[in-house]
Amino acid sequence: MKQQTVQLIEIPKSLDQLSKAELERKACIGKIMTYTLSSLTNTFVKKGFQWLLPVALSQSTDPLWPDPGASIEKRIEVDIYGKPVRTTASMIIHKLIAASTAYPKLFILSPNIRIEKAERAKTGKHIYEFTQLDFGTTDATSKAVFSLVEDAVCTLVKDLKRDMKEELTALCRCDTLKVPKTPFKIYDREDLEAKYGSDWEAGVAQEITEPVWVTNIPREFYDFEDAKTGKWDNYDLFMPQFGEVLSGAKREYEYMKILTKIERDQVKKENYSLVLKMAKEGRLKPTAGGGIGMERLVGWIAGVKHIAECQPFPRVPGTVHEL
Ligand code: AMP
Ligand code: MG
Repeated sequence: MKQQTVQLIEIPKSLDQLSKAELERKACIGKIMTYTLSSLTNTFVKKGFQWLLPVALSQSTDPLWPDPGASIEKRIEVDIYGKPVRTTASMIIHKLIAASTAYPKLFILSPNIRIEKAERAKTGKHIYEFTQLDFGTTDATSKAVFSLVEDAVCTLVKDLKRDMKEELTALCRCDTLKVPKTPFKIYDREDLEAKYGSDWEAGVAQEITEPVWVTNIPREFYDFEDAKTGKWDNYDLFMPQFGEVLSGAKREYEYMKILTKIERDQVKKENYSLVLKMAKEGRLKPTAGGGIGMERLVGWIAGVKHIAECQPFPRVPGTVHEL
């Protein structure tokens, strides 16, 4: 994203500061959010996924490392009952255990707390609390996830265009929001890097006119890495003129691979003892899944400049409101 464009983004205000017209716009985006939550959860439930409620405090949470996209200013850790717990950065570890045991197909609307660096306020794509529609399945191939998500997104857009005409018109998205064509194209991150350099994410988002998958992105230990080819069996979903709305992967489940990667990344082993134990006992199943950032998905649909516009109580990095 060009620096000049970035600086023009207006930071979303709190509800009490909005004019009448701005409140009307807020209400429109709120209706699109409600519709989107209803449509996506309905799709997952209809496909046999169980809906789990989220947790906020655990000993084990996402290390968010070494994802080159991560920019965490502070990690929140408190003691309860004499034990250190962290606020949920994502429920990835919970998903691995839950899908391997009682919930082979699951999803969670999971509040994630990530205290992003304050400078990220101007990207328009980062907030310090957001909600993921986080899902996992023992139907463990990337292809299965691609068709699941493509179906969910296309159903959503098609139905929105039928039922939310007034709101989409008010947001100037009635004509520009198109039902995507399936299957979505798949790009390899290495090819994009060769074409656009290190800023390939901005490059691809500008270029595409349809949603696309990008695969093979080096990141955290739990994403599956093919030991022979060195390729990562993971993926991001990019929306045209917007960027990433989902990250996911086939997941690691073998003890030695997980242990080696945790050590390689210099992540604290003691925070992942349960997942290591389950893997060692052969109780971790092959799974795949992903997390859809709800404010980003709705931000793309509504055509917002800043995704905090999709939050009733904006969580803009660097700004703390009373609510
Ligand atoms: P991740 O696995 O870290 O990429 O997170 C999954 C999804 O959550 C991303 O694809 C985004 O849609 C969303 N997400 C991640 N970080 C943020 C953030 N700081 N603000 C808003 N959404 C985010
Ligand atoms: Mg990501």
